[in-house]
Amino acid sequence: MAIYSDNLVGLALFQFELLRNQTGLVHGISTRHAPRFPLFPHLESSETNEWEVSGGGKRPMLLNNPIRYATLIRQRRLEFLAALGLDAPTVILSLTAGQQRHTANVACIGPTAYGAELNWRRSLPDIDAVVTDLPNLPLMTIHADCPPLILFDPVQKVAATVHSGWRGTVGKIGLVAVETMMQKYGCLPANILAGIGPSIGPCCYQVGEPVLTQVCEAFGESAAYGTNPLLQNREGSWYFDLWAANCLLLLEAGLLPTHIENSQLCTFCHADLFFSYRAIGEAQRHANGYGLFGSIVALTQLPSQ
Ligand SMILES: [Zn+2]
Repeated sequence: MAIYSDNLVGLALFQFELLRNQTGLVHGISTRHAPRFPLFPHLESSETNEWEVSGGGKRPMLLNNPIRYATLIRQRRLEFLAALGLDAPTVILSLTAGQQRHTANVACIGPTAYGAELNWRRSLPDIDAVVTDLPNLPLMTIHADCPPLILFDPVQKVAATVHSGWRGTVGKIGLVAVETMMQKYGCLPANILAGIGPSIGPCCYQVGEPVLTQVCEAFGESAAYGTNPLLQNREGSWYFDLWAANCLLLLEAGLLPTHIENSQLCTFCHADLFFSYRAIGEAQRHANGYGLFGSIVALTQLPSQ
């Protein structure tokens, strides 16, 4: 399992083997484990083991004080950025995220369109994927079963993170993100590397209508129900393979099979390691809210020649 904690903060992060040693790129997907040694010890990061980075307006998990919660979220984002080797207090000012309303909308982030961290709740409306070619501008998506996709073109130096739940997947947001990289930044799909991160797997993602119909409409009947089907029937229940569906979208976009890494880590099966919306259960969600883990990607400034 590609969980690493060999960073400054000892923070446990999932990283893709394909992307881990790419020059000019840092990335990571957070787990629910607290760092061993808080980098910013003026706050008590050991208040809870639930290492939650969202601050996305969900009910504060395990904390009833909204100001304290916001402060803690900020500290965790600082530690996340520091674990990636970034100058956290500086780059947190440009940490950029979308509001994630399960759309297939992609935003290109230029020098003026950032700033979620200036107000921790602020993020780009109706956006589920963020792309940039600017260094030191970290992009974040948040997840609790929906797949994170990280994309990187090492030639044009363009990076993206994508929130691709079932609605985003049938809306083909992974394909839209690659097309955006091609059209706006001149990327060639054959150069793009991609990772499909921890998310609910075909082992556990039971679905009904309208998912079945929309998967069939988006991918066609043979992909949905044929050989290696995206929709699998077991003991009378239907399961959707989000990993295979997102892989198909990336292949359709022109990526090479060897340039796609599927983590194959199910958040429901590994609910001890990642937040899982489904695993936590409705009663618990209602009472305490639920946590979200983050996927962060950033281009780093190359030393000047
Ligand atoms: Zn599972």
